Amino acid sequence: MDPVEQMRENWRRKAKEVGKNFVAPRASEIDARGEFSWEIVEEFARHGFLRLLIPKQYGGEEGDITSFCIIVEELARYCASSALLVVVQAVGTMPVALGGSEELKERVLPHLAKKKGLICFCLTEPEFGSDAASIRTKAILEGDSYRINGRKCFITNGGVSDFYTVFTTTQPDRRIEGITGFVIEKGTPGLSVGKIEEKMGIRGSNTAEVILDDVRVPIRQRIGEEGVGWWLMMRTLNRSRPAIGAMAVGVAQGAIDYLIQYGQQRDWFVKKEVPSPSLLEIVEMMVEVEASRAIVYKSAQMMDEKAKGIPVQMFSAMAKYFASDIAMKVTTNAVQMLHWEGLTARHPLERMMRDAKVIQIFEGTNQIQRAVVAHTLLKGK
Ligand SMILES: Cc1cc2nc3c(=O)[nH]c(=O)nc-3n(C[C@H](O)[C@H](O)[C@H](O)COP(=O)(O)OP(=O)(O)OC[C@H]3O[C@@H](n4cnc5c(N)ncnc54)[C@H](O)[C@@H]3O)c2cc1C
Repeated sequence: MDPVEQMRENWRRKAKEVGKNFVAPRASEIDARGEFSWEIVEEFARHGFLRLLIPKQYGGEEGDITSFCIIVEELARYCASSALLVVVQAVGTMPVALGGSEELKERVLPHLAKKKGLICFCLTEPEFGSDAASIRTKAILEGDSYRINGRKCFITNGGVSDFYTVFTTTQPDRRIEGITGFVIEKGTPGLSVGKIEEKMGIRGSNTAEVILDDVRVPIRQRIGEEGVGWWLMMRTLNRSRPAIGAMAVGVAQGAIDYLIQYGQQRDWFVKKEVPSPSLLEIVEMMVEVEASRAIVYKSAQMMDEKAKGIPVQMFSAMAKYFASDIAMKVTTNAVQMLHWEGLTARHPLERMMRDAKVIQIFEGTNQIQRAVVAHTLLKGK
């Protein structure tokens, strides 16, 4: 096996083990309590999942996007809330790793890699989610620092992070060319955490409002130059959407695994000479999940190979929306197959169905992903 394949297999083995032995026994309680699990943070940090995309020179693992997807998929088979932790850590880190100054990287990345610090990605605002080009959180340069005012909402890990990657506008009239990112440290005066959302799915992740009230941020905490924020954000999301697709694949696969185990215990399959209707339904699910998996790993591979002349954003968008729509379908049908039993918390299927719904919405809704594909098709590349 070549070294890259070997590295990916090592990550798969590790994530499978952690998923099965550590995450699975806690998944139902994490969901029922709707609480963020620091135990999971500790365990994931210990195994390197939370420093996966950080370059080696800053203490990270320098993993690739395919490994990122593999880890997320394996963990999501048992618990999507836990898998999301790995995604958000990478999403918060990527703008810094891709576009931060050396000084900023030295300040942030080793802390995340070695001290188990958490970072979040703050883009969405109460008025602007899909229309990210219109964000209103404003950063005004005053001397050697910026004064930032605004409000971010639905921020994963917003209430538990050490660092906040925050997107602002430095020139509102320039729309995407006016967007600028900053890293703000927890405890900075003016930065506070507002409402923590109570959600139907992915309940174990912390989803918070982040309030920026006259926050003073030194120029050295700006990510790259003024106006490159949109580019950094898009490069980040193009890399993270395959992982969100992988999360959906994991959730759907987890539902299928459960159905097979449940069906075998109740002789759903074995007594018939021809495959039973239940088994045929599971076969249909499996084919759709394999199709999702194929597109997810194809988009990850494009990122890893830094494919030139290929519209990678289109494949990332397809991976995210196709896999999460399939996860929604598979988990809904899985609940149906267990009839009223499927609705109860005695089985993980209703949790998986609620989690799949959230995956269709975050990291850009599935409608927006379709719009990305449409836009790319019309541009002819
Ligand atoms: C659990 C969870 C975690 C999240 N974590 C984060 C995070 O860490 N950081 C962060 O910045 N954000 C986060 N979000 C926010 C998320 O990315 C946004 O909810 C999402 O981008 C949609 O924005 P919105 O909710 O404002 O919906 P809106 O943009 O108001 O859209 C409302 C509806 O209109 C549709 N719509 C809007 N525009 C179009 C269009 N042009 N064409 C077709 N349909 C359209 C949308 O698809 C949607 O159905 C999170 C959300 C959730 C649910």
